[in-house]
Amino acid sequence: MSTTPYADPTALPRVADDDAHMAAAVAEARAAGESDDVPIGAVVVRDGSVIARGRNRREADRDPTAHAEILALRDASRALGRWRLEDCALYVTIEPCAMCAGAAIVARVPLVVFAGPEEKTGAVVSVLTLFDEPRALHRPAWRMGVRRDESEEMLRAFFAARRRAQE
Ligand SMILES: [Zn+2]
Repeated sequence: MSTTPYADPTALPRVADDDAHMAAAVAEARAAGESDDVPIGAVVVRDGSVIARGRNRREADRDPTAHAEILALRDASRALGRWRLEDCALYVTIEPCAMCAGAAIVARVPLVVFAGPEEKTGAVVSVLTLFDEPRALHRPAWRMGVRRDESEEMLRAFFAARRRAQE
């Protein structure tokens, strides 16, 4: 049951707000990298503020579903006391996979913003286009390209360091 009133839908982030919100997701990604998890971070924004955070914890939790977006959406639902997140935006440092894009759809998230494409697993523009699926119950709006260079460089540096450690 909903315990927190819904925010005004016109309060969804605008393009001009994306950089600051993505900076918070990038900070989460950096923290993931420090614990040997691939550096991917996500935040949920409602009414202009970050209300929930998540970072990739697959290694830390030994959990294949512990992606940044899933953990951020769960955190947001706990904070709001409801599963419907139709007044929230999700920011993530790389294109969501099918699981995470699906989670945004079932949570009724109206806006997803991500840094750059993930060519092997991305489910918004790369491998699948779930948010533009005409038969879908709910189609989040989406934007790509915010802090893309920074997010991609973080991933490159992480994998380069891991290769060096394995040599
Ligand atoms: Zn995912």
